[in-house]
This record gives sequence, C-alpha cells and structure tokens, in this order.
Amino acid sequence: MKNFTLYISMFLMLGSCLDTAKESNEINLYSQRHYKVDEMQYAAFEKQTGIKVNVVKANADELIERLKNEGENSPADLFITVDAGKLQKASDLNLLQKISSPIINQNVDSALKDVNGYWIPITYRARIIVYSKDRVNADDLSTYANLTSEEWKNKVLVRSSSNAYNQALLSSIVANKGVDAASKWATNLVKNFARDPKGSDRDQVKAIAAGQGDLAIVNSYYIGLLLSSEKEEELKAGNSVGVFFPNQGENESGSHINVSGIGLTKNAPNKDNAIKLMEFLTSESAQNTYVNTSYEYPANPSVEPNEIVKKWGSFKKDNLDLNQLGVYRSKAIEIFDKSGWK
Ligand code: FE
Repeated sequence: MKNFTLYISMFLMLGSCLDTAKESNEINLYSQRHYKVDEMQYAAFEKQTGIKVNVVKANADELIERLKNEGENSPADLFITVDAGKLQKASDLNLLQKISSPIINQNVDSALKDVNGYWIPITYRARIIVYSKDRVNADDLSTYANLTSEEWKNKVLVRSSSNAYNQALLSSIVANKGVDAASKWATNLVKNFARDPKGSDRDQVKAIAAGQGDLAIVNSYYIGLLLSSEKEEELKAGNSVGVFFPNQGENESGSHINVSGIGLTKNAPNKDNAIKLMEFLTSESAQNTYVNTSYEYPANPSVEPNEIVKKWGSFKKDNLDLNQLGVYRSKAIEIFDKSGWK
C-alpha cells in the first residue's frame, strides 16, 4: 500500500512536470508575414529547441485589433509585421513590452533598431524603381519625385494605395518633405499612371514585361523572387527589368526602406521562449536562410545579401526613424484619398 501511494504521488508529480513543460514549450506568433521562408525558420527553431511555434496570420491592423480585444488574456507572445509603422502603432497602444537581450543587441544593425526598444528588426527591404531594360535608359531616372515628370506620362505602374508598402512610402515622404510636397507628389504621380492600380508588386513587373508600362515602384525582394523563380513567366518578368535605387543624390534622403520586425507582447505567456525565437531569427544561420529564400536584406550586418541582390550594388538608405512611418500613416492615407490614387 505504501508503495502504491508512492507510485501514485510520483505519477502525479510527473504529470505536473509534463504540464509545466507543455505550457512553456510553445510560442504563439501573430504574424503579418506571408512568405515561404517563415515556415522554414519556425521548423528549424522547433527542431533545435523543441519549442513548438504556433502561427496566426492576418494583416497587421487585424492582428492589432485582436491583441487589443484579447487584452491580458491574449495567448500571443510575439507580433511580427512587414512594417515598422505597425509596430510603432502596437507600442503606442501599449500592446508591447521592451526587449532586452544582449544576444539580439549584438545580432542586429543598430541603425535599424527601434530607438524606444519595443521592437527588433529581422530583415529590411527597399521600395525601389524598376524599369524596362528595352524602353528606359537608367540615366533618366533619379528620385521618387522625378516619376511625376512629364516624360513618364502613362508609363508608371504601382499597386493600390490601400497597400501598406505604398502607405509607408508616402509616410516617409510626409516625414521628410512635409504634407504639401507629399500631396503634390501623389496627385502628380496619379497623372502618370499607365493604368488604374491593381495587383501585387510582382504583377507590376509582369505588366512591364507585357509592355503595359515602363516603370514600377516595388519592394526589392520581389525582383529576387522573380529572378529565382521556376516559372517561365516570372523569370521573363524579372529579366525584363533593371533595378534602380531612387534618391541617391548628395542632397537626397536615400531610398525608402522598411523593416520586417518583431515585438514582444505586453503579457506574453511564454516570454523566455519568445526571446529565444527572436535571438534565433537574428542569428547568422537564420539570417542566411532569409536572404537566400526571401531575398530580403539581413538585419544582421555580418550576413551578406543573396548573390542576386548583391549584384544590384549597395545603396544609400533613408535613415528616417522608422517609427515615423506609423506616426504619419493616417496623414498618408488622407493624402492618397484626395489624390485619386485608387
Ligand atoms: Fe511582401
């Protein structure tokens, strides 16, 4: 009987150990990212640590709403976006907590870090101009502002103004040049559109290949994805365009960049695991996986971009505090509405 009691209590102890292990052996991500590389990263992390990564995917505003509604009971540990502006918004709404990890500090480029310490970058991307190699001379390109000049009438392709990448670009113009200049830019660019905005960034490049326009504003990594595609149509589109980094002149701000970044949620139930994942994603091995799978630029400066991306050369980045992209977002949306940019 004594032995039996001992057996039962050992069994109960073991049970409670397993329970604790289960609780702390997972992480819940709310992610705006939509790339194949993410699943590879989480699988590698799971394999290395035994920590299971659960992902909820939606757009950033939906995820922010969800975090707000769930409040203290939110199961989310990490909020991942493709826009620093949304991280700024989440931190402004008191949904994030500061992160302090010497490993992350060491891993990421300090120029890309949140000055307030609420989020960390994992990759960055430039919003660039691509041009038809057949019909445009790169010497005629210079700035985002130059895209509004008469010579590009009916030539410019760009996706809808409801898209987060365009909103971040316009927010950067508001921050750098003011509301009037930003309004003028948006209104005049619409006059040069080759067609009403539709489709994704990749679709704009395909439209250049099909002769529907000569220039497009797109995120840099989509060109890497097209050029490494196994689909003939995508390869052809990628090869039809040249890459141009705008605003490189001495008095210019540099090309607009944005980060994909992560914030630790205010009430993260699995905080230690969440920090481990952040450390993992900024490590050299995971950063190499990003650059060679999604063709983004690495947040870790000891990692080189993919060969395809490296060929485009280095460029001057707009060094605007990326939180400003969130601060000016609603202003940018207001300007878009008035400009007629659909
Ligand atoms: Fe994207």
